Amino acid sequence: MSELSSGLSQFIGGRHVPSASGETFPDLNPATGGEVGRVPRGNAEDVERAVAAAEAAGPEWAARAPADRARLLDAVAERIEGRLESLARLESLDTGKPVSLAQAIDIPRAAANFRFFAGAVRHDETGCHTTPGVLNYTLRRPLGVVGLITPWNLPLYLLTWKTAPALAMGNTVVAKPSELTPLTAQALAEILDEVGVPPGVFNVVHGYGAEVGQALVEHPRLKAISFTGGTLTGARVAATAAPQFKKLSLELGGKNPTLVFADCDLERALAGTARAGFTNQGQVCLCGSRVFVEQSIYREFVDGLVARVGAMKVGPPDAIDTQLGSLISQAHREKVEGYIALAREEGGTVLTGGARPTLPPPYDQGAFLLPTVIEGLDPGCRTVQEEIFGPVVTVHPFRDEAEALALANGVQYGLSASVWTGDLSRAHRVSAELETGMVWVNTWLLRDLRVPFGGIKNSGVGREGGRHSLEFFSEARNVCIQL
Ligand code: NAD
Repeated sequence: MSELSSGLSQFIGGRHVPSASGETFPDLNPATGGEVGRVPRGNAEDVERAVAAAEAAGPEWAARAPADRARLLDAVAERIEGRLESLARLESLDTGKPVSLAQAIDIPRAAANFRFFAGAVRHDETGCHTTPGVLNYTLRRPLGVVGLITPWNLPLYLLTWKTAPALAMGNTVVAKPSELTPLTAQALAEILDEVGVPPGVFNVVHGYGAEVGQALVEHPRLKAISFTGGTLTGARVAATAAPQFKKLSLELGGKNPTLVFADCDLERALAGTARAGFTNQGQVCLCGSRVFVEQSIYREFVDGLVARVGAMKVGPPDAIDTQLGSLISQAHREKVEGYIALAREEGGTVLTGGARPTLPPPYDQGAFLLPTVIEGLDPGCRTVQEEIFGPVVTVHPFRDEAEALALANGVQYGLSASVWTGDLSRAHRVSAELETGMVWVNTWLLRDLRVPFGGIKNSGVGREGGRHSLEFFSEARNVCIQL
């Protein structure tokens, strides 16, 4: 933890403080089971203190010129880039993900989030509508104090995805990172402080969801909650926040389809399907965990996929050739293993994986699992319908486009999909019919930060990204003048 200038603490009003209760709980490295540090166990009192600090800092921050806030956001991006290696190590310690992955994806994206929203707010415009004798224009006002609740799979990536637009629009923030991954949130608080973001503008309250998260959502003076996490938790957040008429953004779970048509470029589709299935040990909400393959190439494709997945290197997160690290916890590995057992009961055949790898100490104590491909399951069974959020992919044949679409759309979720085809007309047709918020054609997880990000059905409500984030973190006010 030498990468952090202090031990884990709450960050409230610009000060690193213990939790109000004085209680802590262990932060474990899932790759070894070792204790990384002690997390302050926050409660409603910590939340109240953080909200009060954020309220006190609000007026001055909101009154600043957007360009002034943008300058600070750019400075944050620069610091994150300057600390690329140490932040990647912290992220890997907390999550068990390969350091190389955090260095290539998580941390650069965190910097990009700040840089992008600094630019976005500099160029933000509002509308003006005129008719003879009447002028209408729109003001965008900050909301006030907003609550940001984030999961463990992409800790800094997702926290910065919310923090940057919230601050850019002049709000002040109380952030609640996952209790499993507190380290990079703490580092972010230090960085914001170092570049001169005033005390109270950004606060972090660590602790459990039921204690800190719930208190944040219940807090009567919080104006908005941006939540990323599981669908069940999201339903609870919505039930609590809705009667208070808080603004809500909910980015929830997924069970995303990958559709592989016979006219695709097979090698590219194989590489893309493997990447979509197993990046971050399959713990990305966008992972393609249901793979549907056109009947005529089914066997060839599945054999190719199994060969690729079987050759993936699972190992110590800091080893240069590791492709898959540890899952987030022993408890989560048991949940994923439970689904593999269920798949066998439901008639599935495990084609590769399905077991724990053998690793030397201390990694023999880690939550590692081999990447797993399963076939022979009915698309309606629980294994294929429920989000597993681990390195498990099921494969299924389809006869034609209509059946492919019916299978892809036949779940409660609707986050993303990827389609592999060489037929441009089919690509457009299928994209229009998929019940998801995002569709990738001949690629996966290729992100442009200007585009809308979010899901439909049980995958969430609202959109983030570009102007959608700026609009969420502000209130539009119409001014109508009779000239
Ligand atoms: P989770 O729902 O268990 O926890 C998410 C956050 O909510 C954590 O900070 C947790 O402490 C907090 N929380 C828990 N109970 C709460 C409550 N009652 N009130 C307020 N906050 C509470 O999710 P997780 O296990 O951390 O993350 C995995 C899930 O997140 C998966 O379902 C995944 O698909 C989803 N996810 C979605 C996206 C997306 O953009 N759609 C991105 C990443 C992850």
